[in-house]
This record gives sequence, structure tokens and C-alpha cells, in this order.
Amino acid sequence: MRESDFFDEKDVRKPTRLTCPFCGRTFQYEVRWRQRLKKKRLPGGASSEDRRRFGKAQSYLVRIDDKVGCQYVGCRRRFEIASFQTVVFLSDSDHGPDRTREQPTRSRPRRNPNRNHR
Ligand SMILES: [Zn+2]
Repeated sequence: MRESDFFDEKDVRKPTRLTCPFCGRTFQYEVRWRQRLKKKRLPGGASSEDRRRFGKAQSYLVRIDDKVGCQYVGCRRRFEIASFQTVVFLSDSDHGPDRTREQPTRSRPRRNPNRNHR
């Protein structure tokens, strides 16, 4: 099972203020990111190894755009989005209002005090 099976993938745009190093002008750019939201449950056919990896998986964003074109008409040069992170991990609260937080299941049975009595 590939890592991409664990996530719902979607491209998003985040408005970001960037300053062109050539002309020094700052504009807001729509920087593209690939959003990978962890699925609520594993697809069928998952092995125990898949389940372990899925348990550790975390929703995140990866930046797609490395460069943007300057929006200033007199410049229009492309520059790198250098001082800006390329991967952002998302906390559960970023998943949107439709995500219901699953209650942890009580998989461990309560200890029976009479269990060791014979
Ligand atoms: Zn510029």
C-alpha cells in the first residue's frame, strides 16, 4: 500500500505576501500547495504494517510552486520562494468543521479482579 493511499489529495492555493528580490516590490501571490489530508480510515486490504504506518501518518501540505512571476508590470521576473517552508504539517483542527473527532475506542477490557482466582 502506497503512502498516497492514506491521504485524500487536493491542490489548494494560499495567498502569500512575497517580496521580489529584483524590484523589491511586495505583492500577494497565490502559491499552490498540494494538500494531503489523512483519510479517516484505511482502505480495505491493509496489512498490519500498513496500519502501523497509517497510525503515524499526519496530514500535511507540500508546496508545489518553487517560483512565482513578479506581479509588477515593469519587472515580471521570476524569483524563487526561498525563505518559506515547503512542508507544513496540519493539526487535527485544520481538517475543517465536517471532521468529527473519533473517540478513542476502549480496546482494553477492564481488568477483572476475579481473573486470577482459580
Ligand atoms: Zn519584481
